[in-house]
Order: sequence, then C-alpha cells, then structure tokens
Amino acid sequence: MQNHLQDLWKVAQGPWESGVLPSAEKLARARASLPATLPETGSDLELVQRHILDDIAPAFNGASISPNYYGFITGGTTPAALFADNVVSAYDQNVQVHLPNHSIVTDVEYNAIGLLLDLFRLDRSSWYNGTFTTGATASNILGLACGREYVLQQAAQKKGSQLQSVGEEGLFEVMSALGLTGVQVLSTLPHSSLVKAAGVLGIGRSNVRNICHASDPLCFDLEQLEKELARTDKVSIVAVSCGEVNTGRFATNGTDLRDIRQLCDKYGAWLHADGAFGIFGRILDESSEFETIKNGSDGIELADSITGDGHKLLNVPYDCGFFFTRHPTVASQVFQNANAAYLTAGNSQGPSIPSPLNIGIENSRRFRALPVYASLLAYGKSGYQEMLSRQIKLARKIYEWLFDHPGYTALPQASSKAELLDQTFMSVLFRANDAELNQNLGNRINDSSRMFVSGTSWDGQPACRIAISNWRVEVERDSALVIDVLAQIAGN
Ligand SMILES: *Cc1c(COP(=O)(O)O)cnc(C)c1O
Repeated sequence: MQNHLQDLWKVAQGPWESGVLPSAEKLARARASLPATLPETGSDLELVQRHILDDIAPAFNGASISPNYYGFITGGTTPAALFADNVVSAYDQNVQVHLPNHSIVTDVEYNAIGLLLDLFRLDRSSWYNGTFTTGATASNILGLACGREYVLQQAAQKKGSQLQSVGEEGLFEVMSALGLTGVQVLSTLPHSSLVKAAGVLGIGRSNVRNICHASDPLCFDLEQLEKELARTDKVSIVAVSCGEVNTGRFATNGTDLRDIRQLCDKYGAWLHADGAFGIFGRILDESSEFETIKNGSDGIELADSITGDGHKLLNVPYDCGFFFTRHPTVASQVFQNANAAYLTAGNSQGPSIPSPLNIGIENSRRFRALPVYASLLAYGKSGYQEMLSRQIKLARKIYEWLFDHPGYTALPQASSKAELLDQTFMSVLFRANDAELNQNLGNRINDSSRMFVSGTSWDGQPACRIAISNWRVEVERDSALVIDVLAQIAGN
C-alpha cells in the first residue's frame, strides 16, 4: 500500500509524461474492469487500491496534471493545495456552523476569504462576506439568487408593498403582488452556466438577454441597457462577463463599469460580475505589458456580487469556487436555514464569523477552503503573479506565431499583431484557413495526444481554443510543443 501511495504521489507531482488523453486501450481496459453489480462481500483494501491505481487511474486524462492540456479551463493542483486537500479528506471536517469551541475550520475558511480579497485587491471593509462553492456555476446561482431577492425588494419598496423577501414569501407571490411579468438578466456573451443559473432560479433561460453593441458582441450597448432597465413590467439583473470564455477578453473596463453601476443604482438593478477566471486580471503587476488585462478587471469592486473559480487559475483541486457579495443581509435572506435552533451557534469567542450554512446552498460542506489557504500561503501574491504572467506570455507567444502563419487565422480578427497581443489574456482562439481542415481541426490536434484544445465556434464557424491555466506551464518549452503540433497539422 505504501508503494502504491508513493507512486500516486509521484504521478500527481509530475512531470506528466503520458499523452494528454488516455489511449483507447487503457479506456477499454478500465471500462472492462468495472464491476457489474455490488459484491456481496468486500475485498481487501489492498486489492481495491491496486484496482484503482492499475486499472482506473491509467484511463484518466492529463487535464490538470499536464501543462499541455488546454481544453476547457482546468487549472492544475499546486503541491501545497494537493497536500492540504489530502488533509481535508483525512480529517473530514464539516464546515457549516461557526462553533468556535468545537473546531477551527470556520475561522480558517473565513481567513481564506480574507486572503482571497487581498489577492484580488478587494476592500475587506465592504467585501468580507461570501463563501466557498463547488465552482463558478454554483457561484453564479448564488449571485443571481441574491440579485433576484434584491431587485424584487427594490421594486416592492418603490411600490410601497409590504412584501419583504422572495426567500420568505416565494417568487410567484412576490411577482404577482407587484404586478410584474418577469425577472431578466442583461448581459453580453454570458457563460452558459449563467444561463443555467437563470433556469434553476425560475428566471428562465430565455430571459438572459444579450445587450451588446452591433459592432462588438462583448460590449454593452448602454442605450439599450438603459431602455431595458427602465421597463416597469420587469425587474433586471445586469451580469458582466468579466472574462469571456472563448476569447478571454473583458466585457467592460473600469470606465464603462462605472456607467453601468450608475444605471443600476438609478433603476434598482443588481450588478453581478462573473469573474470565474477574469478576476485574476487584478493580481497582475503594474507593468504596461498587462495594462489592458488589468483595465478589463478594473471596476469589479462596483458590482454587488462576484463569482470566482478556485479550480481554474487558482490551481486548487476540484471542486472549488468562491462567491463574494457586498450585501450579506441579502445573502442571508436567500439562504438562511429556517428555524433550526440547534444550528444557531453563539459566537462566544474570536471574531464574529457568519455560519456558512446561512450564506450558501449546502448545510454540510467539505473543507475546501484549506487547499486555497495553503496555496495562498505557500506562493503569496508574487507567486500567483509569476504563475499568471507565464500563462499570459505563453498565450501571446502562440498568438504571435498564429498571426503570421498563412494556414491559420488568429481570432477575433485584429488589424495588427500588437493590438491582438495587447488584449490577450490566457486564451488563444483561432481557426485553420482551409475549410475542410478547419472542420476537423480540434480532432486533428487532440489525436496527436501531445496537447488538447477545446472546439468552439466563432462568428458561426468552427474554431479552436487554447486555454492556458496550469501552474506547470513554461513559456519556451510549451510554445515550442504547441507550434510544432500546429505546424505539422498545417503541413509546414
Ligand atoms: C468556467 C466558467 C464558469 C463555470 O465554472 P465551473 O467552475 O465549471 O462551474 C462560469 N463562468 C465563467 C466565465 C467560466 O469561465
């Protein structure tokens, strides 16, 4: 057993030498090894361990372990986070009620939220709230749920209604009492999970609306936005794509976010920022190299709620996201755990720490703050800056090559290379100029098993996206590999 665990540790520490995807053989072998039914009696632990490490693990992909897996935005796991995550499982602490005399876990989680706020340069005095979630999807659900609560409270106030809370009274009751026909979410190129969140919350996926400029699908049309916010039949949540998933670009800069904030205040709308990966733009240093990226994540502090992901650019293991809000009362109106007196603990000692079960979905939760805490302490602000700047430099180096290559088009199309590079965060979007090759480009790249990209579409045509998010990436080594794979596929 000791040997198995040591092998496992070595694999997880890298370097990752097998391909980014498991071979068909390894997948078939793993699939064939799965039991058909529950065995009547158990096996030795040793046998189960061998089965998992010898049959199942070889059929895993290198999504988080390989520096050359660029599909989705998977991040990796830093050694500090890996260590802490094992501690989390071994001790299996439940982080739900703040019981300062029973365990330190709620203090640590609260402290980790503070460290994250420092990393993102968010003022602790207005943002020291929020919670860890399973990921940005869950955080978007929290954000829209708080928004729904808030905008209906604002509408009720305006109409002099006695209604207090959707959480308490129910969405349908509140809507009909206020004579409203719906809640709408106004956005530009929102992530699919935001649309899902609208579905889950009874807002409706079809009520997430693109309010973009005719000339730029990511940029808000402020005139149209104001028209929608001024409607009296619907209430609105504005959701900013602080980092759009195809291009890695930002829907706003500090200036237009200030304008949007003013409009939201004028009409009683909630402003949510989906910064799953984009919020990391705020950690970059002041060099002019990163100015455009920093501007894109500027002004996020004007939002009412913010989504961020831990298992992407923070490089902690799945599953981990976070959610911040400037309105803790609204969050507790949505998520309060009704009438369970045994769960309301006295805060007799230490700082006043809100019980996590009243600010998120779950009543029982994994101690997923510990890997975040460990990784932030181990690498600090400069460690994360250095990691992210390597990822951006790799993306820019690949774009530079693509821009000049006759077989490929770098997307979104830019008039100059300098402009393209200036806007590049950690994503590279491109297509092959040969239409037939382009139809199949993602598969051709991934079949190499040397690197993995996501297939997507841009302007109605297939495109590929390289998303760079792993702490292990190295600019020279990995750009050489990517360029070699792409050059071979283009035939030169
Ligand atoms: C990845 C992503 C999400 C969803 O995140 P999960 O962690 O997969 O739930 C939401 N928004 C954006 C912008 C993302 O990149």
